[in-house]
Amino acid sequence: MKKRIAILGSTGSIGTQALEVVKQHPDKLDVEVLTAHSNAPLLIRQAMEFMPNAVVIAKESMYQRVFEALDPYDIKVYTGTASIEQVVEMESIDIVLVALVGWSGLKPTMKAIEAGKQIALANKETLVVAGELVTKLARDKGVNIYPVDSEHSAIFQCLAGEFHNPVEKIILTASGGPFRGMNHDALLQVTKEQALKHPNWNMGCKVTIDSATLMNKGLEVIEAKWLFGLRIPQIEVVVHPQSIIHSMVQFADGSIKAQMGMPDMRLPIQYALTYPERLPSNFPKFSFDQCLQFTFEKPDKENFRCLNIAYEAIRLGGNMPCVMNAADEVAVHAFLRNEISFLQIPDLIENCMSKISFVKNPSLNDYEATDIESRAVATELLEILKH
Ligand code: NDP
Ligand code: MG
Repeated sequence: MKKRIAILGSTGSIGTQALEVVKQHPDKLDVEVLTAHSNAPLLIRQAMEFMPNAVVIAKESMYQRVFEALDPYDIKVYTGTASIEQVVEMESIDIVLVALVGWSGLKPTMKAIEAGKQIALANKETLVVAGELVTKLARDKGVNIYPVDSEHSAIFQCLAGEFHNPVEKIILTASGGPFRGMNHDALLQVTKEQALKHPNWNMGCKVTIDSATLMNKGLEVIEAKWLFGLRIPQIEVVVHPQSIIHSMVQFADGSIKAQMGMPDMRLPIQYALTYPERLPSNFPKFSFDQCLQFTFEKPDKENFRCLNIAYEAIRLGGNMPCVMNAADEVAVHAFLRNEISFLQIPDLIENCMSKISFVKNPSLNDYEATDIESRAVATELLEILKH
């Protein structure tokens, strides 16, 4: 039986790599749904190649173009953000790959879980914003959330066969990003172009900037807490610049298991889509001919403040990670528009977190209100910083 997949965000970095995985395994995987925000030309090409049942182009002004191009085919075309939330409920879908970016992933993920679909989750922000709500819903519905993020896939792979053994701690590896080793003065000068050049991974803009600030690792600490039911002191971060060890798990007896591979997202994407099977792949494989030295160092939390900001947000709990996420999205986009400097990103996030009222046990409505309020406050703070 083929697994029928909905790919939310098929035109992005994870989405396009997921389609490469599908192409390698046409006997195992079938595309049911593809969605994009505004990249109509690519969505049309993907639809013509993979012949899904339905596509969604979220941006309404692009609808006519997609509709006309796909009119000769038996493919339904929908538009609007709400359509992404509806399309995941389709009877014919087995697994939903959430490769949307930022807050936009939360509601479609919850709708897919409510409809009983298995989830392959790349969109870490969903668990950062509402990890408690989402993981509880998944438990209630008997839905598995398979991690796509490489670190979490690594931990998931290390846990195979160990489900009854308590985890003592996990060690998330971080590449350190393009600015590893730089001091405060050097970081004052860095540009958007430099930040977008990640040493090991080729990813979408938001996650690339988050990697440069170490916010990405902070988001991943929170993601790991919810995915694996851990307490925060059980989650350690170590910098491993070669990005070959994708993360590690230490058990009660002191044994540490690590998962290794090339820094290539197609491996964790494939594992999430085909678990528990390991299918052959012709993507490049790691060999010790390429890299004989693995090094490790402590993250520089003083100069890269976002990591501690994330630890603080999850320590406070409630709606604070949601505030942090919204402020981070505003700050990263402002940085990408050259409106603020690299070091103003943590300033903006921290400032925003100090201004939003705390909600201890938020509902989905509370999260939505917090997200809207935090974006408004972060945007006001941004105006002040710009002048
Ligand atoms: P991209 O920016 O490359 O792609 C995002 C996708 O989502 C695109 O298809 C985009 O459509 C769509 N999209 C963006 N905003 C909206 C919206 N508001 N409504 C509907 N659709 C939207 O992101 P990545 O693929 O890099 O990342 C996706 C997620 O995976 C992120 O959460 C990221 O943190 C995570 N991740 C990514 C990794 C990577 O290697 N890229 C590694 C680990 C995790 P369009 O193209 O039309 O704009
Ligand atoms: Mg990652």
